[in-house]
Amino acid sequence: MSQLNQVCYRGIEREDSYTLAAYQAIGGYSAWRKILEEKTDRNQIIEVIKASGLKGRGGAGFSTGLKWSFVDKNNPKQKFLVCNSDEGEPGTCKDTLILSKNPHQLLEGMAICAYVMGATKAYNYMRGEFFLQYQRCEQALNDAISAGLLGKNCLGTGVDVEIFNILGAGSYIVGEETAMLESLEGKRAQPRYKPPFPAVSGLYGMPTIINNTETLASVPVILEKGAEWFAQLGTKGSGGTKIFCVSGHVNQPGVFEVPMGIAFSELLEMAGGVRKGRKLKAVIPGGTSMRILSANKTLSMRMDYEDIAKMGSALGSGGVIIMDDSTCMVQALCHMMRFYEEESCGQCTPCREGSGWVYKILKDMVSGKARPDAVEQLYTVAKKIEGRTICAFGEAISWPVTSFIDTFREEFDYIVANQGKSWVESQVAGAHARAFGWHAKDNRDAS
Ligand code: SF4
Repeated sequence: MSQLNQVCYRGIEREDSYTLAAYQAIGGYSAWRKILEEKTDRNQIIEVIKASGLKGRGGAGFSTGLKWSFVDKNNPKQKFLVCNSDEGEPGTCKDTLILSKNPHQLLEGMAICAYVMGATKAYNYMRGEFFLQYQRCEQALNDAISAGLLGKNCLGTGVDVEIFNILGAGSYIVGEETAMLESLEGKRAQPRYKPPFPAVSGLYGMPTIINNTETLASVPVILEKGAEWFAQLGTKGSGGTKIFCVSGHVNQPGVFEVPMGIAFSELLEMAGGVRKGRKLKAVIPGGTSMRILSANKTLSMRMDYEDIAKMGSALGSGGVIIMDDSTCMVQALCHMMRFYEEESCGQCTPCREGSGWVYKILKDMVSGKARPDAVEQLYTVAKKIEGRTICAFGEAISWPVTSFIDTFREEFDYIVANQGKSWVESQVAGAHARAFGWHAKDNRDAS
């Protein structure tokens, strides 16, 4: 079994892991102290982060060190750091544990990043439902300020890093980085056109770096233990550990911090295997915005950016959704698209109208009212959204729909031809289908 909890979740088994005393007991704030005392060269820190192979854990998988290097430290403008703690992707619940159980490590990572880019102000933006997490982060922030570690004139060195915890109002799209900037400015959370990118013109038009919670919480450990140590935990292309959230049809759903590149089969085993001994049918490896993979593609798959991409999907946010052989793919997709239809911000016509059409066609399919050519219609609508929108939400609709149809076409054809009767029900023995078919029976919109 691969080692767990070495980076972002280190120490969280302690009941009081979120306190300053517990964090300092495991070496917390030592990297930050060293930087402040030695006035470490900023470029030197960037080189360490680059060498560690750390890539953004929010979904895009972009090199963190490279991203930090995009901000011109000598630019006299006010610079900002934003930590994206919104975590709204369905199937993803990894950052919440960092915020509630290891907030000091995140704050230390934020302070280091702010120092590197010359930002004196940083925002930790959490989704509206994260009350406990917000309280823990506030407590941690106050304690670190009282200890002189954060705020103005950190440890008497003249370095200012003021961090603010922010609670959002609850929307999916605020997790898109430029929508988050709009929200921080007090406006409606709608994504901006890019370019300009935030590193050039971000919060209030100033240079801004936006990093995910898991990314920033990795930073103190990299600096404490070295780039090489971190890099060797993972694969050649992707260093370190990764937190995966395994949900769906497994015996023990949960979050697991494991070495990047772990075999999918090992991760599945950690989650107790497919529930009740059933057969694996499909996997969404990176949250519901990503393409679905059939079980046979996952047999030898390793959980890193490169291998999952080779299989035709993406690691995304690390939300691994397991589906067993009792799952009707049309009903599962319909359930997912209900969410996207509700969460479109409405700026772009293909996304606003397309998400509604996609959901309507799927609802018609599962309720037996679909047109004979509904599968082609659904595929065409979804395909035409891709690449025609301001933000990646368009792809979050298009990719699941087209990949579900490409992989499980016979189920879509069957349900259309059989007035809403699912292919699974026709295949699985009646008793089994009834016992495991919650998705078949419990689709409120389909009834
Ligand atoms: Fe809004 Fe959708 Fe356009 Fe993104 S793609 S900006 S969510 S309408």
